[in-house]
Amino acid sequence: MEKLQNYIDGALVAPSKGTYLDNYNPSTGKVYSLIPDSDEWDVKLAVEAANRAFPAWADKKKDERADLIMHLAHLLEEKHDEFAKAESIDNGKPLWLSRSVDIPRAVSNLEFFATASLHFASESHNMDGHAINYTLRDPIGVVGCISPWNLPLYLFTWKIAPALAAGNCVVAKPSEITPMTAYMLSKLCVEIGFPKGVFNIVHGLGPKVGSAIVSHPDTKAISFTGGTKTGAEIARVAAPMFKKLSLELGGKNPVMIFADCDWDKMMKRTIDSSFTNQGEICLCGSRIMVERSVYEKFKKEFAEKTNALKVGPPLIDDSRLGAIVSKQHYEKILSYIDLAEEEGGKILCGGKAVKLGGEEKDGWYIEPTVIEGLPYNCRTNMEEIFGPVVTIMPFDTEEEALKYANATEYGLTAMLWTENLTRAHTIAAKLRSGIVWINCWLLRDLRTPFGGTKNSGVGREGGWEALRFFTEPKNVCIKL
Ligand code: NDP
Repeated sequence: MEKLQNYIDGALVAPSKGTYLDNYNPSTGKVYSLIPDSDEWDVKLAVEAANRAFPAWADKKKDERADLIMHLAHLLEEKHDEFAKAESIDNGKPLWLSRSVDIPRAVSNLEFFATASLHFASESHNMDGHAINYTLRDPIGVVGCISPWNLPLYLFTWKIAPALAAGNCVVAKPSEITPMTAYMLSKLCVEIGFPKGVFNIVHGLGPKVGSAIVSHPDTKAISFTGGTKTGAEIARVAAPMFKKLSLELGGKNPVMIFADCDWDKMMKRTIDSSFTNQGEICLCGSRIMVERSVYEKFKKEFAEKTNALKVGPPLIDDSRLGAIVSKQHYEKILSYIDLAEEEGGKILCGGKAVKLGGEEKDGWYIEPTVIEGLPYNCRTNMEEIFGPVVTIMPFDTEEEALKYANATEYGLTAMLWTENLTRAHTIAAKLRSGIVWINCWLLRDLRTPFGGTKNSGVGREGGWEALRFFTEPKNVCIKL
């Protein structure tokens, strides 16, 4: 069985204690590879290597750093099919999705930040001719990047690319549930001779490896994407050490549908925003609010279209939804469906596990599920489920829809469907979320600020926001 390795100081190495964890294929429920069960010793070695590499990497001309990152991007692009297949096997997502979104976006992340760093400028403030201030932006040093399992390589590269391009050295940890493509990326780094120690990957469990990265005194900034509870734990450890923190956390995103929307576009994209990646995208809409005059029409058509979505093995072309990432997560989603029924919800479609035959008989599959009849503030409507489960509810006025939309502790994204321009802008301004999509979903310009309000996070990623996060500003004031 394949044993993955850590990538430390430019080499692929076994974990120091020699122990490994099982890596499951969610489509079959079987172990298919082994992951280093690393610990704080491996993290220490990685941080030391990164510290040694930092002065030379920070001193490199930015175009030399950009060239190396672009080289990595090109190689990844060449191996697109291999990576897409590996991502689908490791995560359970359909191959069409890895091919069209995950791997192309990982390439774009590397290319975008490699080239963005060439255009990144810092400010100058002229004090009416008496003095000039200018801001230097230096790399921070060694930084930690910790990413989740839902968009494995996509979110991993979204962090490591700006960190490296800005001149930092990185110690990164992918989710132990989906480590494969980060491991394959480390093999590409070895192939192109990425400078030793600049980029390190330590595989293993969050409470062992992740927390060792966060608590190491020499990691000066932590960029984390994952659950809100984990984010709170990271903040608790990092804040007294005065580390820079970027936290991208959970969501419970509202979709607001008004009767005057472009119906067909709304319907198609709302199916996507509900069930793409088995609903395991932090940006998925999970609470759908529909203006009462079109509620019955919406309910009928949405349930019919949801029923028609095929759940199947990730590598089969016509599977619209693949497998749920882990047994634990599969059980969590099913327990939320039970909770919804206990809370008085009516299941309009789905609601059950899917049992496939053959090799997939022990895989973790769930029907796309639509539930109605729940109060806006019940647990099902307040807590993050992070699976193919949505609730629908009618509303009568804009105020009521806004009240429902803003009711949760989360504030990552919100979707709004209306052809009324004034209403669109008015509601967008009142929504308490970091991102609002009007008449679209998941339309991403990598230059825009990305992140959430309330318990969905602290700070923003994307564009200059990321390059600012990964640099330390220093103001220099010259009296003229
Ligand atoms: P987790 O918070 O469980 O884990 C995220 C990462 O943190 C993993 O690599 C995990 O390792 C690691 N980790 C766990 N405990 C610690 C710790 N004490 N110290 C440091 N690191 C730790 O999230 P999931 O992987 O389950 O991802 C799903 C969550 O991510 C959802 O809540 C989702 O909303 C959120 N998310 C947010 C996004 C955003 O942009 N706002 C985007 C995508 C997802 P291990 O896997 O070994 O536990």
